Amino acid sequence: VIASHAVVLESPGAEPVLRRVEWDNLVDDEVLIRVAATGICHTDLSCASGVLPSAFPLVLGHEAAGVVVEVGPTVTRFEPGDRVVVSVAHHCGHCRYCESGKPALCLYRGASRQRLTLDGQLLFQGFGTGTFAEHTVLREISLVAVPASVPLEVAAVTGCAVVTGLGAVLNDAQVSAGATVAVFGCGGVGLSAVMGARLVGAARIIAVDPDERRRALALQVGATDAAPPDLEALRTLEPDGVDYGLEASGNPQAMVLALDFAASMGTVVLVGLPSGEVSLPVPVTRFAGLNQRLVGCNMGGLRPNIDFPRYFRLYADGRLPLDMLTSTKVPIEEAARGFALARDGQSPRVLLTTDD
Ligand SMILES: [Zn+2]
Ligand SMILES: [Zn+2]
Repeated sequence: VIASHAVVLESPGAEPVLRRVEWDNLVDDEVLIRVAATGICHTDLSCASGVLPSAFPLVLGHEAAGVVVEVGPTVTRFEPGDRVVVSVAHHCGHCRYCESGKPALCLYRGASRQRLTLDGQLLFQGFGTGTFAEHTVLREISLVAVPASVPLEVAAVTGCAVVTGLGAVLNDAQVSAGATVAVFGCGGVGLSAVMGARLVGAARIIAVDPDERRRALALQVGATDAAPPDLEALRTLEPDGVDYGLEASGNPQAMVLALDFAASMGTVVLVGLPSGEVSLPVPVTRFAGLNQRLVGCNMGGLRPNIDFPRYFRLYADGRLPLDMLTSTKVPIEEAARGFALARDGQSPRVLLTTDD
């Protein structure tokens, strides 16, 4: 067995505590990585509180980067010392969704064995990743190499926030140069969407958020305007509405606002994951009459071996200000403080870091 430490949640709402845990020895295509940095995503918080149902006791975390320590007998693409980012797609590579370029929807996603224990008791590896830990074990398919030009903290936030926000713009909405865009919710995902809209040459990028500090961050990373979530305020900026609305907050009212502020023929992408069961009251005339499009988005249409390398390259070329997302770091021993900071929402991302 491999002894290490991980942030364990005993039950929904419990305090996250760093505990000594044990990983089984590696088999087949498994890889042991030393986690360098791991971001706390809103989905982690929803699982920790019990709003999203999960099995406990549990190690959460799915946005991470680190260094390969050891590889299983059939691993071919990695060796100890390699820098890697975690992909939550865990795709098989040959089902109809994988072959359609949507590996995050893989039919066999998440199929992996139980390999983590605490004092002999089974621990659940949340999302199949369990990265709120000093080490984690993943299958080779769930890792992508990180070039030397990209710090591991930046690679970590790319794992969920950046691939989701950028992918919503580039893969799902396919925003065109000169278009008008509104981004609703300016946390890590929304800020990444703003960066993506800037990157593809959108003419106007309106950042919508009730929090003034988050609006200010959006203006720093490329938004042309910022406004609170109020239709009249938005209409003063674009009276006819926008070509693309990207909803990144998961708030149902913001989803309705995104549709209300979309132009005829406009596209609204629902990126944010609401807590629990949510339905939207949407007039059908928007689609049959105004010809609007409502588009779903799972992990920004992530194709791990296409999207991670291109986002890393754009960062290294100075075209994606991802350092903006890595300013708040908390040692993993203080995970409870990290969770509180993430819940508070003032920082676009909170990272748990290990000492290496
Ligand atoms: Zn996430
Ligand atoms: Zn598949």
